[in-house]
Amino acid sequence: MTKGNINVSVENIFPLIKKFLYSDHEIFLRELISNATDATLKLKHLTGIGEAKVEYGNPKIEVKINKEAKTLTIIDQGIGMTSEEVEKYINQVAFSGAEEFLEKYKDSAKDSGIIGHFGLGFYSAFMVAEKVEIITKSYKEEPAVRWICDGSPEFTLEETTDKTDRGTEIILHIAEDSLEFLEEGKIRELLLKYNKFMPIPIKFGTKTHTLPLPEDAPEGTTAETEEVDNIINNPTPAWTIAPADLQKEDYTKFYHELYPMQFEEPLFNIHLNVDYPFNLTGILFFPKLANNLNIEKDKIQLYQNQVFVTDEVKGIVPDFLMLLRGVIDSPDIPLNVSRSYLQADGAVKKISSYITKKVADKMASLINENREDYEQKWNDIKIVIEYGMVSEEKFFEKSDKFVLYPTTEGKYLLWNELEEKIKPAQTDKDGNLVILYATNADEQHSYIQSAKDKGYEVLLLDSPIVPHVIQKLETSKEKISFARVDADHINNLIKKDEPAISKLNDTEKETLKKEIENAVNDQKFSVQLEDLDSSEAPFIITQPEFMRRMKD
Ligand code: ADP
Ligand code: MG
Repeated sequence: MTKGNINVSVENIFPLIKKFLYSDHEIFLRELISNATDATLKLKHLTGIGEAKVEYGNPKIEVKINKEAKTLTIIDQGIGMTSEEVEKYINQVAFSGAEEFLEKYKDSAKDSGIIGHFGLGFYSAFMVAEKVEIITKSYKEEPAVRWICDGSPEFTLEETTDKTDRGTEIILHIAEDSLEFLEEGKIRELLLKYNKFMPIPIKFGTKTHTLPLPEDAPEGTTAETEEVDNIINNPTPAWTIAPADLQKEDYTKFYHELYPMQFEEPLFNIHLNVDYPFNLTGILFFPKLANNLNIEKDKIQLYQNQVFVTDEVKGIVPDFLMLLRGVIDSPDIPLNVSRSYLQADGAVKKISSYITKKVADKMASLINENREDYEQKWNDIKIVIEYGMVSEEKFFEKSDKFVLYPTTEGKYLLWNELEEKIKPAQTDKDGNLVILYATNADEQHSYIQSAKDKGYEVLLLDSPIVPHVIQKLETSKEKISFARVDADHINNLIKKDEPAISKLNDTEKETLKKEIENAVNDQKFSVQLEDLDSSEAPFIITQPEFMRRMKD
C-alpha cells in the first residue's frame, strides 16, 4: 500500500476559480469593496480598543476609472498590509484574514460587521483583470509595498515609495473581454446594486453642489457651486437602526430608497431584530397589491452585513411572503455560494420559520393597536394572509388572532366574534355551525338578500384562494361547515324567526313550486319558495353544496 498527498498545483486551480467560483463575473467589485470595508472596520475596531494608535478620522472608499490606462482602482483608508501580511493573506489562496481577525478578537469584534470569511474573494479580481496590482501601507510604521500578479502563480512583491498615506489601492488592469467594467454607467449600476447600503461611504466621482444664496444677495445673483464627493451609498440604512429610534416617515423614506421606481406607499412594516439563536435584522413591508406595477421587479432583498447577496429569496422566505418587500440581513447567510446551497443551509431554514412567526405576531399586534386601520387594509393584505393560512401550519395556528371575516354588510369579524354572532341562528340539527358566504356580492345578490331576510349573517369571501381557506378551516376546526349562499344547506338550518305568513295556502305553494321546477327543468337544482310579501326574491334556486364544490 502506498500513502501520499495529492499534489494540488496552483496552476490548475486558478482557471478553476476563475470559471466556477462565481457564476457572475460582476461580483468582483462587491468582493473588493467588501475587503476595503473590512480593512476600514478592522481599523475602527483596533483604534476603538486602543491597539492602533492612529487617527481613525472619516475614512471613505473610492472607486476610480481610468479609461486610457484601462484600469479600475479601489482605494481604502483601512489598516493596510505590511509586506509579511501580503505574503500571508494574499499569496495564500483560501486563507481568510477576516476569519483570522474575528478569531483573534472574538469577543470584542463579533458585532464589528466584518464581511469576509472564505479567503477567496480577492481572487475574483482575476475574472475581469489580466493583471492586478496592490499598493498598500499598513497603519503600523512600515514601508509601503507593491504586489503585482498577472493571474499566473508568479507574483512580485517589493517596497515602494509611491504611497505615503495609510490604506490599500487595488488596481485592476481590465482584460480585453471585460472592457465593459471601464464604463462609468456599468460601475455605477454595480455599486448601486451591491453596495448601496454598505457601512463605509463609497465615493464614485464628484458632483456639483449649488450653495445657498446669502439672504441679502441682490436679485439676479447667480448661486455659487462647488464640486463635492459623489457618495453612492447610505451607510446607515433603516434596518440597522433600533426600531425605537425610527418614525413612520423613516420607514417610508427607506422603502422608496430601496425601490426608487415605486411610488405607492407601503401599508405597514415589520422590523425584524433577533440575535438568538441566529443573527438577523431587516424590515419587511406589506405593499399595496392592487394596481401595483412593479410586483415582479421589486422583491425582498437579502443582505449579509449590509452587502447585497440576492433578491432570489425563494426557499429563504416562506412562499406566502414572497409578495412582501424589504430587506433581510444576516451575517449567517453565506455570501459566496449558489442558490441551491442557500436552500439546503440549516441557518436559512431557521430564518424562514422565524420570519413566519414574526409576521404572525406582528399582525396580531397591529390589529390590537388599531382595529379600524387594520380593517381598512384588510383587502390589500388578505391574499398574503390567506395564502399563509393554507401553506404554513405555524401561521395557521396563530391566525385566529388576526384573520378577518368580512360580512356582506361591511363588518369585519374575528373568528371568535363570528362564532358568537352566528351561534344562535346558524346551527344545523347536528349542532354544527354553518357559515354562509358569498363569493360575489353582485351575482349572488338575491341569495344574499334572502339569507339576510331569514336573519342569517353572510360573509363576503371573494379572494381566489377562498376554497382552500374554507377547506383548511373545516378540517382544522370542530363542528363547523361552510355553505355558499346558493347552496341547499341553507334549508337545513334551524330557523331563527317564525316563518312569515304567506298569502298562498299550502296547495297553492306546492303548485307554484312544481311550475317553477318545470321551468328550471334540471335535476341538479332545487326550488324553494320565499315569503312573497317581504322578500325581494319570491323564490330561490339552490344546488347541493357538494355538487357545487365538485365544479369549483
Ligand atoms: P476574506 O475577505 O474572505 O478574508 P479575501 O480573499 O477577500 O478573503 O481577502 C484575503 C485577505 O486579504 C483578507 O482577509 C485581508 O486580510 C487581506 N486584504 C484583502 N484586501 C485588503 C484590503 N483592501 N486592505 C487590507 N487587507 C486586505
Ligand atoms: Mg473578502
